[in-house]
Parts: sequence; structure tokens; C-alpha cells
Amino acid sequence: MEFFKFDDRLLEKARQAEEMCKESFLEIEVIADFNMQKVLSAFIECKVSDVHFKGTTGYGYGDMGREKLEEIFAKIFGGEDALVRHSFASGTHTIATVLFGLLRTGDKAVCVTGMPYDTLHDVIWGRGKGSLEDYGISFQTVPLVDDGIDFSACEKAILGDDVKMIYFQRSRGYQLRPSYTVDYLKNAIIRLKKANPNAFIVIDNCYGELCEKLEPTEVGADIIVGSLIKNPGGGIAKNGGYIVGKAALIEQCSYRLTTPGTGKDIGASLDELREMYLGIFHAPMAVCGALKTSVFANALFELLGFECFPKFNEKRADIISAIKLGGEKELIAFCRGIQAGSPIDSYAIPEPGDMPGYDSQVIMAAGAFTMGASIELSADAPLREPFAVWVQGGLNYSVGKIGILNATQTMIDENLLKI
Ligand SMILES: *Cc1c(COP(=O)(O)O)cnc(C)c1O
Repeated sequence: MEFFKFDDRLLEKARQAEEMCKESFLEIEVIADFNMQKVLSAFIECKVSDVHFKGTTGYGYGDMGREKLEEIFAKIFGGEDALVRHSFASGTHTIATVLFGLLRTGDKAVCVTGMPYDTLHDVIWGRGKGSLEDYGISFQTVPLVDDGIDFSACEKAILGDDVKMIYFQRSRGYQLRPSYTVDYLKNAIIRLKKANPNAFIVIDNCYGELCEKLEPTEVGADIIVGSLIKNPGGGIAKNGGYIVGKAALIEQCSYRLTTPGTGKDIGASLDELREMYLGIFHAPMAVCGALKTSVFANALFELLGFECFPKFNEKRADIISAIKLGGEKELIAFCRGIQAGSPIDSYAIPEPGDMPGYDSQVIMAAGAFTMGASIELSADAPLREPFAVWVQGGLNYSVGKIGILNATQTMIDENLLKI
């Protein structure tokens, strides 16, 4: 029985692409297996019980489920303590909590991985919005050289007693530079710590969680931070964010999350706990599905003659792939194909639109159970040079592969692709 109509020639290409992916798939499965063991043993060691699923209301004092969940995250991600809250409205909100929690007037932070993610620009520089700059906190970005950290420039930039934070973004975001592996981060951290041992290392870990056996906190990062509608929510958590790292720093962040004084002792978990537990439990497998989808997409599109980032057989540091489709029509067709192959809102037809923070129109495809969740298969593309689509997610490989094939078939149907 056939549920989807794909050209035989496309199916043949897909078969070839899967053949190319074999080795990478094996590596991804080995990592997923390792991380599943890591997560399961954290549940066992922390003695999770169904009583921990029962949330609290009001202030949320003595919320056992919340405290246990934070213990589990600290264990899985190799930190001393954690904040894991559904009340973080987004990844950006969670990162902002770290920046404002740890920096004071007169302090300086240095981002060593070039411009940070778009949504942080207002947090850092937004005039009159209560940005870091409004509070007299400076945030310097050091441009990359050859897609890597400019170590000599960074070593100069981080000198000085006022430098309190060295900030890294692990994932590529909407750029074509590589995402940085934990190994790359490890060497960078060692080198930069030598130049300034007092500044703490903060890593925007979005999209990188559970993609490798180690997390940045296990190789010298003081704080990692990310969103629960990406990897560590496993496609199940309804919203939220996490911060993991050194206990003293987590405490400072907690005073920004709630209030100086109450910190992490309050924050009712309401009815969100079970899904957050189930989400982190399922996360290694969701990440496995997303990574395989991403590798398959890049193998297929390399076969079809497109430039893909990273190359299908490159070691993965996050779940994102970027495919240079070359033109507006191609981007639109691809996104429409992803949307049409999604479980939710498959009948919606994505249109390019204006987005705050973008100087061009953007088209997005997202047919997800959780609004905006990008651990579920999703694609977005700014309609400008280099005319690339960014694809991420796929709760399991089967569904991810169908989505990618549907996107490709749509391009074929519109005569934008010959195979
Ligand atoms: C997703 C993401 C963020 C945070 O984004 P939100 O949309 O606010 O959740 C920050 N940095 C990177 C690299 C991201 O991928």
C-alpha cells in the first residue's frame, strides 16, 4: 500500500542516499544508545517516582517534582545544579536570564563565536528596552575567521578585570558556519581560560543537546543554556527552558528568574512535570531521529547536486542542516512540501512574510504538535542570498524522511528540480 506518491526515480535516489548514510547512521545510533543509558541511569540514581509528577500551585514552595527534575538535568548534563522551568517563555528568555543573572553594571561579556542569534540582539543592545546596554553592561562580539574562533583577537578581547563572561554559541543559527563540536569547544575553553581564568564560560547550547556523548559542561563550560521545545524536551515538553552548571552561578540566575531572595525555591510547576520528565527521557531518541533526518536530507540533496551544510558525512554538533537551494521558488516549494507532509496543519500553504529582525521576507514550514517546536520537523528560509533553507527536527527518522521526500517531490512537481 502506498500512502505517499513519490516518483520512482526519487525513491531510487533516496535509496542511494540511505546507502551513503549507513556509517553516519551507525555513529548516531551509538551516541543515542549511550545517551539513553545516561538518561535512564539518571532517573534510576535520582529515584524518580510517580509522586514527582504531581505539580504544585501558588508559590510552589517545596515542589518535589520540580526539584527532582532539576537534579536529573544537572546529572544528565554534567553540572552541579540546574534550573528547569516551564515558565521560561523561550530559549531567548532563558539565555537572557543567564546574561542578566550573571552580569552587573560595568561588567563586560565577550562573545567569541561572532554575532549571537538574532533574537538576542534586542536583549543585548535594544535601546530603552532594558537591554544589557541600557544597564551599562558591555557585550563585545569577536568576528570569526575562516568560520572558526579568532583566538588571537579573543585572547586580547577577554583581557581585563571587567570581563566576567566568555560567551559561545554552539549551533550555527541562521548562518552557514559550522556548529561547534564539544571537542572544538573543549580546546577553545582551555585556551581562553588560560588568557582569563576568572571569566565564566557560558554556552548557548540550543540544538546541540544529546548530539554527542559529552555536553559542554563536561569539558569546562560553567553554564549551558537551552530551550525545551528543542532537543531536551524530546518533542513532549510543552514549553520551557533549562540552565545547567556551577551551583553558585545557577543561584545567581535563579534570583533573576524569580526574585533576589526567593530564587529557585519558588515557581509552581502546575501540571507540566510529567511531560517534562517524559520529554527528557525521550530526548535521546528524538535527537537520534532528528540527526538521521538531517544527515539523510544532506545526503539526498548532495546527490541531487546542491551544496549542503554540514556535508552529510561530517561529524554532527547539532541537528540543523542548511541546503543551498539557489532561488526563491525553490525555497518556497521546499517549505510547502515540508508543510504538506506534516501531521498538523498539513493543508496550510506557507507564504513568505515579513519577520521582525529580518531585512528580507522569510518563509517557514512547521506542522508541529507544539507550536514553534523545532525538534519536530520544520524548515525556514529567508528569501535572500545565499537562498538556503534551514531544516531541523524529526521526532523519528521515518517521519523526517517522508517530510524531506515530500519537499523534494514538490520541487520536482513544480519543475524546479530534474532527476
Ligand atoms: C533557538 C535558538 C535560540 C533561542 O531561540 P528561541 O526561539 O527564543 O527559543 C538561541 N540560540 C540559538 C542558537 C538557537 O538555535
